[in-house]
Amino acid sequence: MMISKLVVKSSSLNIGTRFLPLLRYKSTMSKTEDDWRAILSPAQYRVLRQSGTEAPFTGEYTDTPASEKGVYECVGCSQPLYKASTKFSAHCGWPAFYEAIPGSITVLRDESHGMVREEMRCSKCDGHLGHIFKGEGYKTPTDSRHCVNSICLKLRNDE
Ligand SMILES: [Zn+2]
Repeated sequence: MMISKLVVKSSSLNIGTRFLPLLRYKSTMSKTEDDWRAILSPAQYRVLRQSGTEAPFTGEYTDTPASEKGVYECVGCSQPLYKASTKFSAHCGWPAFYEAIPGSITVLRDESHGMVREEMRCSKCDGHLGHIFKGEGYKTPTDSRHCVNSICLKLRNDE
């Protein structure tokens, strides 16, 4: 009796420890379209879940300056995406960063609108963020412009 209880307890503990990150990941990914509509504003939903693009020069963070402090998070799932220190003034109408926090984005080939571009998605919730442009000559460490829809971002200044 004692042994059987012990075994059950131990095995459920193992399952909890081993699969908890996976379950969390899956629960984020398995949100229904109705779940997303409840979390996001209609404008956010159109960009993040339908790969839309916000109008240029309209976003809250388009012209916020680079800063040593602060992190831009995904508005859909709160995953940290960009350090505020990697933001730069590209004058393109959307927030621009020269590199993402490692592992935070997934890059896909996008052949829509008659162009071949690199699309960025949040690696946690798969929300569309924007596109990456390279070799444009910006004086940044990577010569890469992560052109992110402002509406996908949430600036956290508390660290
Ligand atoms: Zn996300």
